[in-house]
Amino acid sequence: MTTELNYRILLYYKYVPIANYEVFAKEHLQYCKDLGVKGRILVAAEGINGTLSGTVEQTDTYMAYMQSHPLFEGISFKIDPSEGHAFAKIFVRPKKELVTFRLEDDVDPNVITGKHLSPKEFYEKMQDEDVIILDGRNYYEYDVGHFRNAIKPEVESFRDFPEWIRQNLSEYKDRPILTYCTGGIRCEKLSGFLLKEGFTDVAQLDGGIVTYGKDEDVQGRLFDGKCYVFDERKTVSINQTDEDIIVGKCHHCDKPEDRFINCANDYCHLQHICCPSCEEAHKSFCSDVCEQFELSRYEG
Ligand SMILES: [Zn+2]
Ligand SMILES: [Zn+2]
Repeated sequence: MTTELNYRILLYYKYVPIANYEVFAKEHLQYCKDLGVKGRILVAAEGINGTLSGTVEQTDTYMAYMQSHPLFEGISFKIDPSEGHAFAKIFVRPKKELVTFRLEDDVDPNVITGKHLSPKEFYEKMQDEDVIILDGRNYYEYDVGHFRNAIKPEVESFRDFPEWIRQNLSEYKDRPILTYCTGGIRCEKLSGFLLKEGFTDVAQLDGGIVTYGKDEDVQGRLFDGKCYVFDERKTVSINQTDEDIIVGKCHHCDKPEDRFINCANDYCHLQHICCPSCEEAHKSFCSDVCEQFELSRYEG
């Protein structure tokens, strides 16, 4: 049986000043609706960041449209084949910033950012003895998969990075630092921040983990586990070699697992890694508190 992959999932970003970004977001939403693509697109004064799904034809049209747009010329798309849509709806949201540091003096990646390394360069540099590999994502993304020997940042959100770096990495300013994230957008700012803080040798994985996983030379080597993604797939495979392993653990029983579910409590919806038997036993709740809460709602 062959599966027809007539759909695609796109992931892309570009830091570029967008004047009247709120107006642009409205027009772009209409364009996407007319075209029939679904997904989540953020538009800010500093640029655009999107992930969307559509048929091969629709995504071709979208990419050609973006490439021919004066603002987005040269934008690069990560493309995954898919059996269908990976989103239920289309959202185009205007936002103050694409990636939020909550700094008075924000980082403009068009002014300062770390050196971009290709997957092959990144793979080689990771094996240097004194290198520090910093995961530029949140803890739950790290937990399901990450580069071997990468540091896990104890942050719940990207805006916690500056403080965490000042507290934990200050003594390593002369060591080479590598940063990586899902598609590259967060590292543009994160590596820029590190340079501003006085780190001397800062480089980032160009195109992120997703691009790394498609590179024919490296084939995802040294990435352990799965990569968390922001669509209905939840995770994707990166390591194409026989070293592919499970690094995630069930939230309840600690068994190796890499599937995410949302907590069944509507007021929680915590995304957590959960094995099939615990999902059944805990009725998809992340905790007893959530289970009790949901029960009490119906007990009047
Ligand atoms: Zn379990
Ligand atoms: Zn919960």
